[in-house]
Amino acid sequence: MPASASPAPVPSQASARIRLADLTTLRVGGPAQQLVRAESASALIDAVRAADAAGRPMLLVGGGSNLAVSDAGWPGDVVQIASRGLRVAADGDDVLLDIEAGEPWDDVVALAVEQGWSGIETLSGIPGCTGATPVQNVGAYGSDMSRVLESVDVWDRVSAQRSTWPADAVRLGYRDSAFKHSDRFVVLGVRLRLQVSAVSIPLEYAQVTAAVGAATGGRAPLADVRAAVLALRASKGMVLDAGDPDTWSVGSFFTNPVVAALPPGLAAVPDTAHWPAVLPGGGLGIKLSAAWLIQSAGFGPGFSIVGSAAAVSGKHALALTNRGGATAAQIIDLARVIRDGVLTRYGVALLAEPRLVGLEL
Ligand SMILES: Cc1cc2nc3c(=O)[nH]c(=O)nc-3n(C[C@H](O)[C@H](O)[C@H](O)COP(=O)(O)OP(=O)(O)OC[C@H]3O[C@@H](n4cnc5c(N)ncnc54)[C@H](O)[C@@H]3O)c2cc1C
Repeated sequence: MPASASPAPVPSQASARIRLADLTTLRVGGPAQQLVRAESASALIDAVRAADAAGRPMLLVGGGSNLAVSDAGWPGDVVQIASRGLRVAADGDDVLLDIEAGEPWDDVVALAVEQGWSGIETLSGIPGCTGATPVQNVGAYGSDMSRVLESVDVWDRVSAQRSTWPADAVRLGYRDSAFKHSDRFVVLGVRLRLQVSAVSIPLEYAQVTAAVGAATGGRAPLADVRAAVLALRASKGMVLDAGDPDTWSVGSFFTNPVVAALPPGLAAVPDTAHWPAVLPGGGLGIKLSAAWLIQSAGFGPGFSIVGSAAAVSGKHALALTNRGGATAAQIIDLARVIRDGVLTRYGVALLAEPRLVGLEL
């Protein structure tokens, strides 16, 4: 993917006043020492190289929708990814989309649906930038990035080399990839393979099939699927809305735990709250609904610690939200109470889904 020419990255004039709370959807996090906005892939490489050469800690931020940063902030450069651009090439019955890392993801989905390119319609309404989508193999409503990712354009901070990784090298798993637990790699852009088709991928998720009137495994017009997914997401507070604190979150705060067998305390878990899944080390296991575990352990919608401005979303037990003025410490305290409560009640350990910066669960 060629880099587009553009000005070098510029330290923001307002760096001194920038707080991570202003750059993240959870709205917590203290000051950044310096904010650098990178508006092209080459500017992104330059910004990262400059921080690395000077020995300054560097934090990449796209849409800030999967980041929880401590109240102490970030003691170095925050590089905001704002590279834009998308190119399309036909390839038989498919189209290949080369997308710069800073393109807002949902704009890409909207374009694909409008153009009749199938593959990402169930991933409608997910906040953030395209460059972050392979980082945790973004997924929703029965699909994820592994279905469409062709390759990733990567800057390696250790070898100081740029290269193209085929999708299988990214090791996409459930909310996981080769990028998720490392700061070594910078995603400069992604290539997606979509099908030219007016109808969706086969739909597996019951709430979506019900909304579009399709059978399980059936297909529906792309625009209908997008509309259904957006409506479902909005009803759960999973579409960003500046006026609705139920959406001031990182989406799901915990991943759905995958266990080898049902723990004794969970013998009566309803069928709708668990599914077969592959264990992290291989082999068949059981994926449990973290939302069900949280809610049935007593932390229902709206649950909060007395005096805290952090609360479980009123619309979804899996989202921890900032009700206005919450600190990162309050968010983490709430997460710990929930994690400990679920562990005590069911013997299942919940793990955080977002990147925690200067914070520990
Ligand atoms: C309301 C809401 C709903 C959500 N729903 C979903 C959902 O349905 N499914 C889902 O999977 N996620 C969901 N999320 C989580 C989040 O939107 C996704 O993980 C998204 O891809 C994050 O993109 P971002 O640009 O905001 O990443 P950021 O939050 O800015 O960054 C996340 C992590 O990736 C790193 N990173 C960012 N960009 C790059 C890059 N170019 N190269 C290397 N590392 C990078 C950051 O350093 C950080 O560690 C939701 C979040 C919210 C707030």
